[in-house]
Amino acid sequence: MDQLGLLIGNEDQQATGGGVFNRLNPITGEVATCAAAATVDDAQRAADAAAAAFPTWSKSSPKERRKILLKAADVLEEKGPLFVAAMGAEIGATAGWAMFNVMLAADMLREAASLVTQIKGEIVPSNRPGSTAMAVRQAAGVVLAMAPWNAPVILGVRSLATPLACGNTVVMKTSELCPRTHRLIVESLLEAGLPKGALNAVSNAPHDAAEIVEALIAHPAVRRVNFTGSTRVGRIIAEKAGRHLKPALLELGGKAPFIVLDDADLDEAVAAAAFGAYMNQGQICMSTERIVVDNTVADDFVEKLATKARTLVAGDPVKGQTPLGSVVDATAATRIDQLVKDAVGKGAVLAAGGKIEGTLIDATVLDKVTPSMRIYAEESFGPVVTVVRVGSIDEAVRVANDTEYGLSSAVFGKDVNRALAVARRIESGICHVNGPTVHDEAQMPFGGVKASGYGRFGGNWGIAEFTELRWITVQDGPIHYPI
Ligand code: NAD
Repeated sequence: MDQLGLLIGNEDQQATGGGVFNRLNPITGEVATCAAAATVDDAQRAADAAAAAFPTWSKSSPKERRKILLKAADVLEEKGPLFVAAMGAEIGATAGWAMFNVMLAADMLREAASLVTQIKGEIVPSNRPGSTAMAVRQAAGVVLAMAPWNAPVILGVRSLATPLACGNTVVMKTSELCPRTHRLIVESLLEAGLPKGALNAVSNAPHDAAEIVEALIAHPAVRRVNFTGSTRVGRIIAEKAGRHLKPALLELGGKAPFIVLDDADLDEAVAAAAFGAYMNQGQICMSTERIVVDNTVADDFVEKLATKARTLVAGDPVKGQTPLGSVVDATAATRIDQLVKDAVGKGAVLAAGGKIEGTLIDATVLDKVTPSMRIYAEESFGPVVTVVRVGSIDEAVRVANDTEYGLSSAVFGKDVNRALAVARRIESGICHVNGPTVHDEAQMPFGGVKASGYGRFGGNWGIAEFTELRWITVQDGPIHYPI
């Protein structure tokens, strides 16, 4: 098998000392990828290469950056079959999920290409006679980009597309769980013509993550950090970024509530809940984790959802015969199994699923979940959805907000004004009325509140994250000084 190197200054390099690590296929246990295990020196060299590329890339014309980003979108799409193979082997993803990733990620690159002429400024009226005062956005410097394995192409591209469009250079720290998938993204951009050092990729062995990340955050050229991953690691990144006074954009965990009001279209609600709960085996930050349903429609809703869930069986994605693939590894499968057993042991009703074979878990519905069960509060990040029955709108809102997280949410009800009033009361960055909790578009303000993190990817909000806003004045004529 080929061994992946580091990509520093557009060169494929071995790690200092030749260290490597293996990513195993979650279903077969065979080596899926062997990748270079960077040292701290290697990580610093990558940041140095990005720093050296910054003066040129930050001064490149919008036309040049747009051309490269558009070409990268095409190259990424051409590599579709390679992404399917890499995601199947590294994370047990279905071909459908891999192709959806490629499609949305290509869209994100095209959207980023459209941002290159939106990095603007304005003239601000000044009190000083003769002064022209400008508020100007300009590239910040080197951006450290970290993305997880679960939607690896979408989130990998998201971590670097807007930063590059703004004229920053990037070091991507790839996920230990999908180094090949992440590297394919970097290769796509380099093949599209990114100049030497504008984008660098560093892979690391899992036990080296803390010191590699620390070294990269501390590097003087690194001016922005973006991290998508768990809340646990997000807190560590926030602390390290804070110590070095580097702004960080943090996209962390979720526990998305899905409220079903008494006037909801139950068939539509079931279709959206099943998609949101089980797509990619529930391993999406926006995955529907908590269905909060009005008592008057709860029996009907649960019966319809359970019927749908029974059709969503899991199997080896390489064989491509089942709607669900594998969860990411045996540890995740064990954790999910324990969450289900804990809930059932404390009185939850298993309305569908519950079957686990290795890393394959069928779609599972747990009804009558209460706060005493671990799964009420913990992110399951698996194909398991919980149902809590409530007696009023106020109770539905209270239960929906009874979580440390606040990324995505949904409300179903035919009276749209009533549903919208509920949506406004939910503590989350994102809420969809009569739509699934899982929904992403490149131009939307994407991000969370509470323990789901802070900052927004997408559109002009992304530009604000990855540029410096400067005040620059030009004086015409003399200034009167008091001394
Ligand atoms: P993770 O936080 O476990 O790992 C992410 C990265 O953190 C790894 O690549 C690792 O190198 C690094 N890391 C580990 N320990 C570290 C340390 N001590 N110091 C610095 N870095 C360290 O997350 P994951 O398993 O890759 O992803 C799953 C999580 O991501 C879920 O919680 C999910 O909800 C979240 N997620 C959020 C979004 C979003 O947009 N909000 C999107 C997808 C996934």
